[in-house]
Amino acid sequence: TLSDKLDLVFKKLRGQGVMTEDNVKDALREVRLALLEADVNFKVVKDFVEKVRSRAVGTEVLQSLAPGQQVIKIVHDELVLLMGGSEDNSLDLAAKPPVAIMLVGLQGAGKTTSCGKLAKHLKGQRKKPLLVPADVYRPAAIEQLKVLGRQLDIEVFNSLATQKPLDICREAHRYATLNGFDVIIFDTAGRHQIDDYLMEELEGIRDELAPREILFVADAMTGQEAVNVAQGFNERLGITGVILTKLDGDAKGGAALSIKAVTGKPVKFVGLGEKLDALDVFHADRLVSRILGMGDVLTLIEKAQATFDEKETERLQQKMKKSGQFDLEDFRNQLQQIKKMGSLESIMNLIPGMGKAMKQMQGAQPSEKELKRIEAIIDSMTPKERANHTIINGSRRLRIAKGSGTSIQEVNQLLKRFTEAQKVVKQLQKMGPKGLMKGMKG
Ligand code: GDP
Ligand code: MG
Repeated sequence: TLSDKLDLVFKKLRGQGVMTEDNVKDALREVRLALLEADVNFKVVKDFVEKVRSRAVGTEVLQSLAPGQQVIKIVHDELVLLMGGSEDNSLDLAAKPPVAIMLVGLQGAGKTTSCGKLAKHLKGQRKKPLLVPADVYRPAAIEQLKVLGRQLDIEVFNSLATQKPLDICREAHRYATLNGFDVIIFDTAGRHQIDDYLMEELEGIRDELAPREILFVADAMTGQEAVNVAQGFNERLGITGVILTKLDGDAKGGAALSIKAVTGKPVKFVGLGEKLDALDVFHADRLVSRILGMGDVLTLIEKAQATFDEKETERLQQKMKKSGQFDLEDFRNQLQQIKKMGSLESIMNLIPGMGKAMKQMQGAQPSEKELKRIEAIIDSMTPKERANHTIINGSRRLRIAKGSGTSIQEVNQLLKRFTEAQKVVKQLQKMGPKGLMKGMKG
């Protein structure tokens, strides 16, 4: 995967202060290849890599976050941004009903299927959609939509193959208005490639209907080619969004990135199968993870971010500012946060500060078992002892050892570790909570 490759690239980078032009170059080569492999358009890749380069070069190399992961995080964030980030990609139905939606695209892209899926999606939102077949060229195209309508129990306008598409659309609109439909979904004809005749026909329909949405249906399996086609449709028709179909196959979906980058139009839905419920509202971050093939790494980073509670860190900072103290209670809270994140081994290095603190402490990282013991020992202390460990004398140590089912040696060892941690935390304190968190957010 990309993250493995980046880890290799960055092995030699460890121990250096900042990422330089040189060492970022190798990493970006891998990023470039991964994107091209995922069918992202080469021009889009070029611009994108440039952007990542300028963001990565000069970035501090964090001790605790592998540089490969740092670059991945930057790449991921920039890609999500490129895909529109957390933009609202929902259907625009803000018009007087019946609101017209028109699906366009090449033959076989999945228009007719997507019409059915979309109708089902809208029905689920308590809308009353009318399906309108306007593909009079392909034999059985009308029947195909009628079959879907029957399966979904959604009405399909009774178009005839002998009618002109423009007439069908006009009549269907009148029919929908008279019969109280909220939305009209128009299934249009496609060709194997863009041709003038088809475009003129579609322009005519668009001008007649003034659709609120013109959704370009793109087959994810067609890869790079989908970009040129999308651009062609957008130039002639002014599309409002994209449905990316067949993402259930091997295609990584890089086409979506390119289409958005080139046309500026958002992907609104993805098709994930032939069945009529196989339609998903688009999520930029999911697609980006799929493209980069790095779900795991990201989940880990996200988990670390979510679990390493910013509030707790800040509370600690505040407290230390006031009293200059980091006590055993705080120590235990920090350990609990680490535990919440699951496997220690995999996660320790993701946490700036804590990973470092643990390593600097004698004996490197404690195992899960050790953690439990440490917690048991701290639990057996009185609040006073937790607030001020210096009062823990010999007899208190004996009591604590007994209470926690451990030995005096283990209590001693913990207190020694804690004093060392206290020192490290005092150093880290100078960074402030922002400095600590920055590490994780990359
Ligand atoms: P149209 O020519 O654009 O109307 O395309 P169709 O809707 O007739 O679909 C062409 C083929 O692609 C059909 O066999 C569909 O079942 C299939 N198809 C459409 N969407 C998807 C999808 O999201 N996943 C998969 N696997 N197949 C799809
Ligand atoms: Mg069709």
